[in-house]
Amino acid sequence: MSDCLFCRIVAGAIPADKVIETGDTLAFRDIAPKAPTHVLVIPKEHHVDIAALAQAAPALAGQVLATVAAVADAEGLRESGFRVIFNTGEDGGQEVPHVHAHVVGGAAVGPMLA
Ligand code: 5GP
Ligand code: ZN
Repeated sequence: MSDCLFCRIVAGAIPADKVIETGDTLAFRDIAPKAPTHVLVIPKEHHVDIAALAQAAPALAGQVLATVAAVADAEGLRESGFRVIFNTGEDGGQEVPHVHAHVVGGAAVGPMLA
């Protein structure tokens, strides 16, 4: 079993509140939400960050973005708006080294990172 937290969620070894699952991607609620809606979108395949994913598997990066849009639709965020954040590396504040998009909304979340 992988020691990557999000690979373990993909494998079902750690429970998660799933929002959308496709063949290659998974969307689940953040365990410590920073907004009324806070969903993480990941590729099921392990890639460390968005730069690695985009270079190694650009089509899969596109699938992650398509799932981001599907989450926004499912959560009713398309009209009110939302933010998509890829924290990347140490200075970017990334804590889990399996690429994930944060989809946050449901309240005004501001134009800048907190
Ligand atoms: P990062 O700082 O790497 O961009 O974000 C990691 C996110 O993963 C954090 O917002 C954190 O709350 C979330 N997280 C950490 N552990 C778990 C977990 O076990 N389950 C879920 N659903 N989210 C988690
Ligand atoms: Zn992983």
